Amino acid sequence: MIQSKIVLLDIDYTLFDTAHHKKSNLLKYQVYTEVQETLSELVKIARLGIFSEGDLFNQKKKLRETNIDKFFSEEHIHIVEKKFDVVQQMLHAYRKKGQLFLVDDKLTILHIAKQLFPSVYTIWVKRGEYARKQKPIKDFLADAEVELLHEIVPIIANQ
Ligand SMILES: [Mg+2]
Repeated sequence: MIQSKIVLLDIDYTLFDTAHHKKSNLLKYQVYTEVQETLSELVKIARLGIFSEGDLFNQKKKLRETNIDKFFSEEHIHIVEKKFDVVQQMLHAYRKKGQLFLVDDKLTILHIAKQLFPSVYTIWVKRGEYARKQKPIKDFLADAEVELLHEIVPIIANQ
């Protein structure tokens, strides 16, 4: 049986250039340069969703203003106040839906996801202030590490 792939992506510092947004006093909205192309390739091989922290209105605005909202289906958009509070319940709900990939610039959330559900494939995007400050986590490495988002396409395709 071919299991379908589901990729849940973080917004800030993973898709969305949050540093640029902050520098512009929250006026400018842009995704990193390779994001549109990456998502249009990924959407051919997987269902795409969001797993993001923050205010629902603001996070959705980031998707809309950058014209990437079209890649995500509503049922797979999860915008929550604290990922740690919901990650177990959310991953549990996905366990029978397909092969799940989590893509995030925060290693800590990938770590907890892997501890809870070892079958989840974790991809760490080493970009932005959190990734830069992140110290190694004992006994944990993400399944893959990338610096640019387009690197995830062959990784997901080949899993
Ligand atoms: Mg982030």
